[in-house]
Amino acid sequence: MTRILVIDDDRLQFRIVQEHFKSFGKGAYHVDWADTYEEGLERLLSGTYAACLLDFRLGDRDGLQLIRESTAKGCHTPIVFLTADASEKVDLQAMEAGALDYLVKGEISARSLERSLRYATKLGETLEALRRLATRDELTGLLNRREYDRILVEEEERSRRFDQPLSLVLIDLDRFKAVNDTHGHAAGDAVLAEAARRISGAIRSVDRAFRVGGEEFALILLRTDLDSALEVAGRAIASVSRAPIQAASGLTLVVTASAGVAEIPGDAGSGPDLFQAADRALYEAKASGRNRAVSARAMRGLP
Ligand code: GH3
Ligand code: MG
Ligand code: MG
Repeated sequence: MTRILVIDDDRLQFRIVQEHFKSFGKGAYHVDWADTYEEGLERLLSGTYAACLLDFRLGDRDGLQLIRESTAKGCHTPIVFLTADASEKVDLQAMEAGALDYLVKGEISARSLERSLRYATKLGETLEALRRLATRDELTGLLNRREYDRILVEEEERSRRFDQPLSLVLIDLDRFKAVNDTHGHAAGDAVLAEAARRISGAIRSVDRAFRVGGEEFALILLRTDLDSALEVAGRAIASVSRAPIQAASGLTLVVTASAGVAEIPGDAGSGPDLFQAADRALYEAKASGRNRAVSARAMRGLP
């Protein structure tokens, strides 16, 4: 059943929409109603709805704000905006804020409602596919380098504002060139994809894993100090080497990885410095024998 969310502080309007759904939906739709901004936002962020019909007027706040807030929080549920009057400019503002279509309340029919929902859902899927292409690495499915740059700037500022540590783990597969040289590029790709899966399985859901280079990965760990980050790094590289990786049919390989770890504010004050500090620690992990995690603090000779 397709789940639809109606956010409208007007019960009558909800009833009208509900009747339309009954006439064309034939039980294919489950329609939920939220009558306040807060409840609407919470339900929308649950990510369980195929689409949302959103009213402009919501108590002392409005639907435009709700679109912006939910989008900023990572919600991409297709939204169809409901405006009271065809002459209002809010429809354009709604599209700019991120709504995918709009309907004028007095003119809604079962037909126009169905058409609009189908259109918004289809467009939403297309946009989601584009977003994925722009933010994810195709081979591993991890976030790409561009997302790393964007998110690090964001999280660096947040960590400063809330006075909380932020850690970066850089992971590089050991002697990976030999995998390609010995077994071919396709085997190398299979190893990379599985290593990425294991690395991202080693972190909490609030943390994020990126592929920042050929066989280089980064973990951005929120509210995490250097010691805890070092533990995560150890867990991540252990998960890569713990069991042989299937590189091709009949070919399994044991692969190890090295990691460098650094934190804000202890090792760096800015994103670029953080990367450099972790990269230096990674270099040390390689130089001192590989298959290990080294912290930026240890590089400065501190315990
Ligand atoms: P080290 O332990 O010092 O890191 O040695 P290494 O061999 O891993 O390091 P190096 O940087 O010399 O080699 C990295 C190799 O990763 C080179 C390149 O062929 C391979 N590589 C990078 N991207 C990809 C990819 O997308 N697919 C495959 N199959 N190989 C890749
Ligand atoms: Mg390497
Ligand atoms: Mg490398």
